[in-house]
Amino acid sequence: MISFSCFPDHVRGLIEAGQRISNRSYRGRYAPSPTGDLHLGNLRTALVSWLRARSHGGEWLLRIDDIDTPRNRSGAVESLQRDLLWLGLKWDGPVVFQSERRGIYASALSALRRMGKIYPCRCSRRVLAKTSGQDGQHSVYQGTCRDLGLFWGWEYGRLPSWRLRVGNAFSEKCGDVILRRSDGFIAYHFATVIDELTLGITEVVRGEDLAIGLMPQLAVMDAFFQQPLRYRHVPLLLDSQGRKLAKREGSQGLEYLRAQGMTPPQVVGLLAASLGLTTRGSELTTLDLLSDLINRRSALDDLLNP
Ligand code: GLU
Repeated sequence: MISFSCFPDHVRGLIEAGQRISNRSYRGRYAPSPTGDLHLGNLRTALVSWLRARSHGGEWLLRIDDIDTPRNRSGAVESLQRDLLWLGLKWDGPVVFQSERRGIYASALSALRRMGKIYPCRCSRRVLAKTSGQDGQHSVYQGTCRDLGLFWGWEYGRLPSWRLRVGNAFSEKCGDVILRRSDGFIAYHFATVIDELTLGITEVVRGEDLAIGLMPQLAVMDAFFQQPLRYRHVPLLLDSQGRKLAKREGSQGLEYLRAQGMTPPQVVGLLAASLGLTTRGSELTTLDLLSDLINRRSALDDLLNP
């Protein structure tokens, strides 16, 4: 029977090290992409993720999702760390940079390749768009290239993307997931799953806009014979017109609020009140909020969606 032990020693060793960490206690993470300044919605998610980890007496890591380099914005890493600390959200241990973990992703990918679990796909965006759902997002790949035995290298000036042959349980839910994009970059779902597994993350708390990534991520975990972690999604903070906030619009960030003279306890109060965790106009530090919530942890549970 095929099992996890068929993975090469170093890949297995990395995942087993992650399992040993996750067996010990709660470990959460906040994983922003450095594409711009954090807006209040990002900070609210970070606050909930931090509260959740601390109220379990657990660790909270900061991971920078910076492998999609063309999207990175210079200065964003420093600015987001400054903002988290200003608010009172201190992470544990060194900051984890995905850009420094490319070797791990490459090993994990070649392990899957040797096992025949991935294949090259040359479907164009146009072909994929035709098969996507009505909203253009919820596409389930139909497996067009699955059994074609296509070439892995450059052809007509293009590289293929690499897809995972997902197990039966996932074929209708998300289809074969892209692990390496045709531009050569490791795909978000793959990098994040490898990180959760090897860093020993026990629970992921993130924004609701990422809930759509759950199935593809579970499919990748399954390829490594790993059980799902706990996933919780924080409702998004909307602007006055009911739109999602965007990192590009600087007016929703801390810079703006600081310029208005707001203090960290005022901003924490604002964020906590927007979640119904405290009353409007409250001023409190993250530690005040934590000690208040430790006695009523269910208040935090209630606002998170699976
Ligand atoms: N880096 C992703 C983002 O900023 C979040 C990844 C995650 O939490 O899974 O949108």
